[in-house]
Order: sequence, then structure tokens, then C-alpha cells
Amino acid sequence: MRPTAKIMNPRQSLEERFFSKVNKRGPEACWLWKASVCTSGYGQFAPVGKKLVLGHRFAWALTNGPIPKGMRILHRCDTPACCNPAHLFVGTDADNVADKTHKGRASKKLTEANVREIVAEADKGARGNVIARRFGVSPTTVHKILRGYDWSHVTNIQPLRRAA
Ligand SMILES: [Zn+2]
Repeated sequence: MRPTAKIMNPRQSLEERFFSKVNKRGPEACWLWKASVCTSGYGQFAPVGKKLVLGHRFAWALTNGPIPKGMRILHRCDTPACCNPAHLFVGTDADNVADKTHKGRASKKLTEANVREIVAEADKGARGNVIARRFGVSPTTVHKILRGYDWSHVTNIQPLRRAA
């Protein structure tokens, strides 16, 4: 065996291995990808001996079967790292553009649950720009939450007062 080869548990199915990397919670919640994400914030999964696939695409295919050729898997929740099949739908490139324009990435509305997750990710040591990608928000949004300038009624983070 090559020293770099990863030892896989032969009893663990691909599906189990996939969901071991997902923070699987209630049916309504976003199931965030826990492992590495690409620059767009999507989860990256490496099925054995195959090239990397995007986590949300794999999650959709596990539930619904192969993705029709040339189709995109889009998020109802607009959270790139989310792999909850209930939050995913299939669409074309044009749908993707229309969806993003309609939702307006920059003004994405976070839920209280999202905000608590953002704080939890930061507590685990994730960098602000990585968290921002996973949730599809700007680094400034994450910064404001972590500094207590925004959502402090949820996080109980008190903004630091500037020395007089
Ligand atoms: Zn979601």
C-alpha cells in the first residue's frame, strides 16, 4: 500500500462515509458540510477513486438518483455548504442565475439558527472568510456577528467598547 493511501473502513458504505462529513440535524435545518469546502463554499467530497464532487450534488443524487446531464443542483436555503436533500432542487444554469438574482446574494437573510451556527463554527476555530463562504454571506456579515455588532440578541456577544 502506498503510504499516502487512505485506509477506508470496508464496512462503511459510501453513503455512511458521506453523511459522516455532514452535520445532519432536524429535517428543516441546514445540514452543513463539516469537511473542506471549495472557494464557492460548497462541500467537497471524494468518492473512492473518483474525482472530487460537490457535497450538495452528491446529497441530491443519493436521494433522487443521477443528476440529469448539464443540470445544476440549487439551494432553496441559499447556504452553499448545506447538504440537506430537502433544501435542494434541480435547475438549469439560467435558473441558477435567476435564483441568485431573485434572492440577492448580498442581502441574504440569515436565520437565528444560522447565526448560532456561525458562532459555533468560529468557536471551533474556523476562519471568518471560510464561515462566510459556507453560509453564502459576506465576511463583513460574519465579522459583525462575531464582534457583537449584529444579532447580539441571539449571540449575547457584547460589542467591545472603544476606549475613550
Ligand atoms: Zn439548507
